Amino acid sequence: MIIVMQEGASQQDIDDVCRRVVDFGYTAKLLQGSVRTVIAALGDARDKARLTALESLHHVESVMPILKPYKLCSREAKKEDTVIDVKGIKIGGKKMQVMAGPCSVESKEQLMATGMACKEAGATILRGGAFKPRTSPYSFQGMAEEGLILLQEVSQATGMPIVTEVMNPREIELVYKYSDIIQIGARNVQNFSLLKDVGQLDKPILLKRGLATTIEEWLMSAEYILSEGNQEVILCERGIRTFEKATRNTLDLSCIPVVKELTHLPIIIDPSHGTGYWHMVPSMAKASVAAGADGLMIEVHWKPEEAYSDGPQSLKPGKFHTLMEELRPIAAAVGREI
Ligand code: PEP
Ligand code: MN
Repeated sequence: MIIVMQEGASQQDIDDVCRRVVDFGYTAKLLQGSVRTVIAALGDARDKARLTALESLHHVESVMPILKPYKLCSREAKKEDTVIDVKGIKIGGKKMQVMAGPCSVESKEQLMATGMACKEAGATILRGGAFKPRTSPYSFQGMAEEGLILLQEVSQATGMPIVTEVMNPREIELVYKYSDIIQIGARNVQNFSLLKDVGQLDKPILLKRGLATTIEEWLMSAEYILSEGNQEVILCERGIRTFEKATRNTLDLSCIPVVKELTHLPIIIDPSHGTGYWHMVPSMAKASVAAGADGLMIEVHWKPEEAYSDGPQSLKPGKFHTLMEELRPIAAAVGREI
């Protein structure tokens, strides 16, 4: 059930409702909107008649059931879009944010040259993996802490905050120390213990859609993070597995309007993993902007032919620059900026 407070409800009114919700045996979670506060009462729905009675309380506007299996991330619980502030960069607002950089951090020269070029082209967030989820155990696994240190150096040089992946609860502390947004990769989208752990952090989480997760399963994974207290989740569509072999994955752009209807969380699109080929990235990036994405994640490499991972889907800096130029009028046409 959700309890919607009236505009102008005082902290005391809110505390009073929360106390009663807890007395009834539910957990109370606050969802602070810019105008209204909503209190989600999480627990056994069988006893909901007691919660309905709260409607008579001072400054309570309505008490409603949430019909979806996910609660805190549902649009029913919060009508307004969630805007996440990362060092002053807002994800989910009018301006679309572009996260760009190499698939893996490989060396200082590689990351600095690539990061600088991305910044110059208009990217606002630096991406790069230091812990890599590779299909083969014999492939490059990432530079670990050394890579995180390089990310920090390039972040300082460019002024771009860092998004980087954590694969394992044991590495959360380390990744937390060096990152601004913590990425949960496609293969970990249903690693529920990892989701619970990052749900306790005070940094935004970028949650990639799994290779074979439905939108509902993906939102249930976001719910794991929100239910632990962390309300800052950015969804990222990166392609799903289908029977199609012409692309690495099938980029599901129709998930944008679906997600926008079902949840208040921002969604970005990763056309690099979504297609697997650099020459398909620009058209899918443009389509994502037109379809209402809140941002993009794009792999860029100074020398894709020498990349340790995902070279075939990485744009060269010049191509990325051109793409950014081409995206601007498309963003403007749909009332956004890039
Ligand atoms: C990545 O962003 O480098 C990555 C490994 O992505 P995904 O989890 O979507 O495969
Ligand atoms: Mn990659």
